[in-house]
Amino acid sequence: MTDINRTEGYFLPELETMPREKRREYHNQRLSEIVDYAYQHAPAIRQKFNDAGAEPGDVRTVEDLEKLPITEKSDLVKKQKEDLPFGGFAGIPVERMRRIFVSPGPIYEPGEADWEDDRWTQAFYAAGFRPGDLTVITFSYHLVPFGMALDESFNLMGVKVIPTGVGNTEVQVNTLKDLKVTGFAGTPSFLNVIADRAEELGLNLKKDLHLKVGFSAAEMLPESLRSSLEDRFGMIIRQSYGTADVGCLGYECRCKNGMHYPDKVIVEIVDPVTGKHLGPGEIGEVVCTVFNHVYPLIRFGSGDLAYYTDEPCVCGRTTPRIVKIVGRVDQVTKVKGMFIHPGQAAEVAKNFPEISRYQIVVTRQEHKDIMTFVAELTEESGDTVGLAEKIAEFMPSILRIRGEVRFVPQGTIPAGAKTIDDQRVWD
Ligand SMILES: [Zn+2]
Repeated sequence: MTDINRTEGYFLPELETMPREKRREYHNQRLSEIVDYAYQHAPAIRQKFNDAGAEPGDVRTVEDLEKLPITEKSDLVKKQKEDLPFGGFAGIPVERMRRIFVSPGPIYEPGEADWEDDRWTQAFYAAGFRPGDLTVITFSYHLVPFGMALDESFNLMGVKVIPTGVGNTEVQVNTLKDLKVTGFAGTPSFLNVIADRAEELGLNLKKDLHLKVGFSAAEMLPESLRSSLEDRFGMIIRQSYGTADVGCLGYECRCKNGMHYPDKVIVEIVDPVTGKHLGPGEIGEVVCTVFNHVYPLIRFGSGDLAYYTDEPCVCGRTTPRIVKIVGRVDQVTKVKGMFIHPGQAAEVAKNFPEISRYQIVVTRQEHKDIMTFVAELTEESGDTVGLAEKIAEFMPSILRIRGEVRFVPQGTIPAGAKTIDDQRVWD
């Protein structure tokens, strides 16, 4: 696998290099089809049209999407509570689904009937994966869709997978070495942990391991970390962007100048208040419409703020690119690859009557996210050490990730402070 050209070519050559006018027609045609389908089969989508006073015939082009409101994740959660399991958003009956996922929210997600989504596959190809590669997938394979989604997507291009999942660093290192693994899919911070552990075990990252290409997602990839990892392993690392609900929404090519929209999805950057389309360089919410009959989300708001460019890319792909994700529309924050939101912090606090005020502070040290639950206590709290331990132990059951606990004197957390204070700097 040494002389492979990992930088040229496309997974879907015709679509990826399509003239923009043609892609517009292609999107309009697929949009019309999914709108008609979703209106007929997904009651919540029909309701969305009714609420907007629109009919499927009113939404025939990407521009027409402005007539519809944006469905946010919180809307999905609310609708599901009223109407289990999917709040009327599924486009096929449960009996025909192969899998159902459980994501933070909490939210149940229709899986698939047959796997046919190749947007992550486009991302892998653009990153430099090629048929014949052997890759580890270090994302979670249970509850949330991501591990399975990537597994199926690698299969579409003939890349073999070792489903190593999260954690077990030493097992990961040995697997990379023993099986001469060429690909890595995971968070950059975990790859960094693997690099450190491998060196502690006396391995030479370039000679004893064989990594050539890495796919990073679920957290920001600072350039400093990318170049450090690329140098240490002698590999290429490219990042990608998407959400659990809708899959891939952007991927880097060899040029590292933003993340191309995949072809089989409509990505809009919109004013989160008015829902109107914004131009290149303007910061707005990433909103998407997928052509997925199982889970036909129309104008789904990712909650992420970003801006895009439509400048031509040297790689030859003609889709616009997300230049940068700049933050979250609401206070939802991604920590260690998982979303945390103020409601979860409240849930933690609710279980400990000793807590009078609280705040989650997110910081970053040596390319690792650190979540700290900062709390003020009521007067009569006794054993604070024991309490801190109890809270730290309880947190992952609600937040899905571990964190530290720190008590501060009463009056330390200012009135009106954000429940989640993200203090990370991405340089
Ligand atoms: Zn490109």
